[in-house]
Amino acid sequence: MIKGQKEICEGIVLGSTQYQDDSAIVSFASQEGLLSFLAKGVYKNKSSLKALLISGNHLKIEYTKHQDGPLIASSVYLLGDASLVYTDYKMSIFMMLLNELSVSLFRYGDSYPYLDVSAIIKSLQEGGDSLSLSLLLLGSLYKSLGLKMNCQTCVICGKKENLVSYSLKDGGFICKDCLSKTDLKVKDKMDLYVLRFAFMDISPDILLKRAPKNSGIHVLNELLENLVDYFDLKPIRTYPLFLKSVSDN
Ligand SMILES: [Zn+2]
Repeated sequence: MIKGQKEICEGIVLGSTQYQDDSAIVSFASQEGLLSFLAKGVYKNKSSLKALLISGNHLKIEYTKHQDGPLIASSVYLLGDASLVYTDYKMSIFMMLLNELSVSLFRYGDSYPYLDVSAIIKSLQEGGDSLSLSLLLLGSLYKSLGLKMNCQTCVICGKKENLVSYSLKDGGFICKDCLSKTDLKVKDKMDLYVLRFAFMDISPDILLKRAPKNSGIHVLNELLENLVDYFDLKPIRTYPLFLKSVSDN
């Protein structure tokens, strides 16, 4: 047998399924995109790989790569613990949405924004607002997928003044003059603000901000619908549940 080469990668656990008696296949989102690891014996009491079983954990994994075989995790180092997320219904739903979106949108080779996502999960566990964090999540996924959004100037003429609407398909804000040449409508000012918020770079300050609820839900709907259209995805199954969890209070 040819001995595999040891490698290291960093990212976020998206989910795991049991494999044979005490092992699991773990899906993992990293800078190299989505990867699958075999976590041998992870269900045994003393396994040092247990951190691979918690979706949302930010980890460094050491693994061996065998020719034409699976990637076999040999050790893990926990950089961000997501286990508290599952103590709360609303946070668990957020994670379900995060997982579904990640698996639907990313493939092997697509760079996944695991640092942003890890910061968002951390903020969620510290009591951050689910709706605001879901907007930042969408913004971060858009950017990683190469879908730019110009929230500073008119995406048609480049002017900074009189920005009154936006088009997600065209990738940004639209000024009053250009709007009159389209069949789009003027948007609520708050919607413009929320869209700009969703595409801000993730920082500790931004993670603490709270988007207004009505506009937040409205823009989130639009961002998701646009992704589903653009990538021709099936409807996001966990989204209605998520929407209910953020609308309820
Ligand atoms: Zn314009």
